[in-house]
Amino acid sequence: MSDDNAIDLAQRIIKDSKRIIALTGAGISVDSGIPDFRSEGGLWERYDPHEYATYDSFLVDPSKFWTMGQELADLILKAQPNEAHIALANLEKTGKLRGVITQNIDNLHQTAGSKNVIELHGNYLRAYCMDCHHEYADNEIHRRVINGEIPPKCDKCGGILKSEAVLFNEPLPEKAMEEAVALCRNCDLMIVIGTSLTVYPAAFLPQLAKNSGAKIILVNLEGTNRDNVADVVLRGRASNIVPRILE
Ligand code: NAD
Ligand code: ZN
Repeated sequence: MSDDNAIDLAQRIIKDSKRIIALTGAGISVDSGIPDFRSEGGLWERYDPHEYATYDSFLVDPSKFWTMGQELADLILKAQPNEAHIALANLEKTGKLRGVITQNIDNLHQTAGSKNVIELHGNYLRAYCMDCHHEYADNEIHRRVINGEIPPKCDKCGGILKSEAVLFNEPLPEKAMEEAVALCRNCDLMIVIGTSLTVYPAAFLPQLAKNSGAKIILVNLEGTNRDNVADVVLRGRASNIVPRILE
């Protein structure tokens, strides 16, 4: 199928669908300036996430995570949603899009105006105290981290603060997973955007939607090992393709 034919087919499927959901990964935020785990020269080349972002290493030495977090905070606080985030937020306003399930921790769907965002891996911007569980919702913690407070400590009890982003080997938020599964079971179309579909359980969700009778449109810069689940595969940048198919 030519690129134009694939775009036409995607537009037709979207027009005929009434209960659309999106599943997004790091690729949707690359055009907002936040690199995915694969791109060269990015943050993750200097900080291997398997070393700097595991739950076990955080418990042993939180400074390591927060040293990486200093650069990550700077990237995330500067990033703005791109055309793909905005197109999804606009589709939700029409009532056709039921929700966005995201593996991202960057808050960009919410900044773009999306309301029903299910965060499978939490949110980097929120933090909480490991001792007294006091929650820190605003950017204050990250400003302190950027200014060199590593690791950041709780104002109430002096305990170590942990970002709410889910680390490797840390259990996923159960409620988010339940909500994601319910959305997958009740959609008639899933648009998968910017994910390599290698991290579980997100990698399994397109198959779950498909088994429940939904069509699948997949938008990604390169091939994924789940392309065969999709009815239409669109190869390209999310910020270019997503607004075109949703226009
Ligand atoms: P991934 O890095 O494994 O895959 C990203 C995919 O996006 C790749 O297949 C790549 O080809 C594609 N891609 C890159 N640029 C693109 C673009 N402009 N348009 C469309 N596609 C593009 O990411 P993943 O599948 O989301 O999973 C990895 C884990 O990394 C997740 O757990 C996620 O929490 C975490 N992560 C999050 C962020 C973020 O919050 N922005 C950034 C990096 C990693
Ligand atoms: Zn505390």
